[in-house]
Amino acid sequence: MPQYQAVKGARDIFPEEAARWKHVEGVVHALAALYGFNEIRTPVFEYTELFQRGIGSTTDIVGKEMFSFQPDPNGRSITLRPEMTAGVMRAALQKNILGTAPVQKLYYISELFRKERPQAGRQRQFSQFGAELLGVSSPAAVAEVITFMMQVFDSLGLRGLRLRINSLGGTHDRLRYREALQAYFSPYRQKLDTPSLERLEKNPLRILDSKNPDLQEIVSGAPKLYDYLDTEALDDFDKVLFYLSERGIAFDIDHRLVRGLDYYCYTAFEVTGTELGAQDAVGGGGRYDGLARELGSSSDIPAAGFAVGMERLLMTMEKQGLFTALKLQAPLVYVVLQQQEYTDVAMQVTFRLRKSGIRTEADLAGRSMKSQMREANRLRCSFALFIGENEVATGQYTLKNLVTSEQSTLPLDRLIEILHEPASGE
Ligand code: AMP
Repeated sequence: MPQYQAVKGARDIFPEEAARWKHVEGVVHALAALYGFNEIRTPVFEYTELFQRGIGSTTDIVGKEMFSFQPDPNGRSITLRPEMTAGVMRAALQKNILGTAPVQKLYYISELFRKERPQAGRQRQFSQFGAELLGVSSPAAVAEVITFMMQVFDSLGLRGLRLRINSLGGTHDRLRYREALQAYFSPYRQKLDTPSLERLEKNPLRILDSKNPDLQEIVSGAPKLYDYLDTEALDDFDKVLFYLSERGIAFDIDHRLVRGLDYYCYTAFEVTGTELGAQDAVGGGGRYDGLARELGSSSDIPAAGFAVGMERLLMTMEKQGLFTALKLQAPLVYVVLQQQEYTDVAMQVTFRLRKSGIRTEADLAGRSMKSQMREANRLRCSFALFIGENEVATGQYTLKNLVTSEQSTLPLDRLIEILHEPASGE
């Protein structure tokens, strides 16, 4: 085994796979432009407090799952970002971009870091694409965020992803619900596991997320948040669902879907795939009007967003056979050197072809002409351009079409024109 290995939970992406990533990223960028979302890039690390804001609640990310360190002995702790939303909101507040334009539509494709136990579909370094719509709280805004996400899936050709959706109501709705949950779970104290007992005091909503099979029966009998929503929340939710239905976006209402953090409100959603095994969540999101205040804003800032795991998205696409037609882009021309003494001419010709925008490869290792031809075929080049004594003497080069075997011998400028003709593949 080689001496050095990638860190557990992190992985290398080689060219064939990188081509898949670029394809997916291209679709995300194109649809973001279509929907009017602009890209934001925030630092990979932030001061730890940003993610650990005196949160009384028990969340999975905050605390135990972060890579934090202190760069200077007495310095402030910094953390590799485990999520993007807090960083995006921090950036928006720091630069007061909402002061200039009251609605901000931002998106990102970014690397994140979580100190989780690595397993299939769960890494310590992974990527998400996502969007954050800041400054408006209408059902239309929430529907826009969801529609953007679903159109990305659709454009990538994905099938069978399931969108589950719920409303968490406003703060007052959840306070009443929280009390109802505490009253419901308290008599079961003996049966609850340790995480659920901790959550009972701090954030009983999270008990509903428990994957512990022994608790499923108790959990399924718990009161439903939906029954605690006031008319305003119900109307808001109906409107979101109306927009989705109108756009032909299928969804399942799932009253058990909750988000653990206090700043979430109203619509919450999650997308799952059937090909992913235990880690079946592809993405999720919702409204988080309360986050800005937690980050020091004097008032709530209405906001909605989503995040989709790129690795799980790519894994699902692979399982659905959506990458079969995707190949690395082949060079158009291979410059074949007949005699080594003309290497300098070959390098110059290669440069001129590239400068004129033609994808060109040439041998850098002094290999035989036969090896060069083999390499041209391996790379699936369409043409070979030969450089030998005659070519150098006359300034006319022979271009061979490797598919049809047709040849023409012409000055380089003329060959470049031919290579630029659409039939050449350029
Ligand atoms: P979250 O930010 O936890 O709501 O996660 C949003 C999406 O990111 C999930 O649905 C997953 O697709 C993806 N994701 C979250 N954590 C990981 C991880 N450790 N490894 C790979 N993907 C992840």
